[in-house]
Amino acid sequence: MKFRLSCTGCGRRIEGIENPIRCPSCGSQALIDYDYDQLSFVVSREKLAKTPPSMWKYSFFLPLMESDLIVSLGEGGTFLQKAERLGEELGIRNLYLKNETINPTGSFLDRGVSVEVTRAKNRGYRGVKCASRGNLGASAAAYSAKAGLGCTIYTTLGIELGKLYQAIVCGAEISFVKTYDDAIRILERPYKGWYVISVTSPFFLEGIKTTGYEVCEQLGWAPPEFFIVPVGEGGHLSMVWKALRELNNIGLIDDTHSRMLGVQAKGCSPIVDALRKNLDKPVKSKELGMTFHDIAVRQPMLGELCLKALRESNGCALAVSEKRILEATRLLAKCEGIFAEPAAASTVAALKVALEDGIVERSDRVVCIITGAGLKDPATIKGLIKRSAVEAPIALVLASSLDSRLGRTKRLILKILQRHPSHGYLLWKALTQEFGLSITLPSMYQHLQELTAAGMVMIANERGPSERKKKVYVLTRKGEAALSSELTA
Ligand SMILES: [Zn+2]
Repeated sequence: MKFRLSCTGCGRRIEGIENPIRCPSCGSQALIDYDYDQLSFVVSREKLAKTPPSMWKYSFFLPLMESDLIVSLGEGGTFLQKAERLGEELGIRNLYLKNETINPTGSFLDRGVSVEVTRAKNRGYRGVKCASRGNLGASAAAYSAKAGLGCTIYTTLGIELGKLYQAIVCGAEISFVKTYDDAIRILERPYKGWYVISVTSPFFLEGIKTTGYEVCEQLGWAPPEFFIVPVGEGGHLSMVWKALRELNNIGLIDDTHSRMLGVQAKGCSPIVDALRKNLDKPVKSKELGMTFHDIAVRQPMLGELCLKALRESNGCALAVSEKRILEATRLLAKCEGIFAEPAAASTVAALKVALEDGIVERSDRVVCIITGAGLKDPATIKGLIKRSAVEAPIALVLASSLDSRLGRTKRLILKILQRHPSHGYLLWKALTQEFGLSITLPSMYQHLQELTAAGMVMIANERGPSERKKKVYVLTRKGEAALSSELTA
């Protein structure tokens, strides 16, 4: 056997379970390891130098069978950009950016999803299911389309529009749930014939680990002093650290001196808090903090592993404010031409703080991992260009593009809301029963979300007698205007 699963808690080997995530005896996270002694004879820097860039050039460190046909869209092998202009701005000479925005669906998650969908396809599954805050769903949808598999994504109405579009266009079925935790809970029960893609799956984790190998090879097998990685669930940082240890195990690098620096959002930083309090497990954060879902995770599912990696590497974790993250997003685009999503640019914001605080020396070699692309999140993009000269023209473009294609469904939604504000379900009942529209509930929510993004509808929360919060949709003045211009047109 090329690889084996073992428990990170009790060290027990795990066998005979199709998709094991947790150890059956102690419940700790399962991870994959390899026969490192044997690999140290087979793998060499020279051989790797002859293989073109791709995450699959490290397939000796990936948990697939020889016979598996890989489902690939060209993931990995991403550019390591020497950031001269940004480095000058921040006052650091050896700054590199691992540009994961150029992955097929615009995020590093493609690496893990490629491994997962390959497994699903080769083991005869009908389709995949996953819980997603955004990027994972977009990626799962694309890879299942390529593999000819079904795809269902469980997400919340808070999902960024760009990511939702990506998933819908690739044919995924979207199921809206109230909270991300609900989505996780739904996927805990087995679905016959469906493969569940999870960010905690040891197979998924092996895929995202390849960022670490690539950086080391791109730096001539001389790892940097610091890897700066955004921390959401904590998987990526843990796995980059695993990659370094593995390369060291088979003699491709000489030591693992690199320090991991994790980045979280101020106001929601369970890993930063746990490090400060010297705890082994993250304590669930009280508030959700800012709007950047990917790094505002209240209870990171791989928190323990992440804390272990931070301690072993003598690393640290920083919580940065929304303001600083947005500044960094702008700076990264302006100096280096990389348009990242804020959660990804948070690594640049953290570097700035780390330099100010003397955590990172100005002579250190630093790699910031830029995990995802900025185009996925139109709302934040608008925020970035606010107060600038182009604001007015952009608002016009947005308004006219939506106004001109305000289709029948959207017009009806606005009309119903013009009579009175409504809950989502009642609105759907009116659409289907009163107006005879044949539309599914999720696609109605999709229309509602677009109308909300366009500022024609807004959401108000209503607390019912049961103390359960309910969303109420209300027509805005802009929505009224759109409706009356449509009527006179
Ligand atoms: Zn165990």
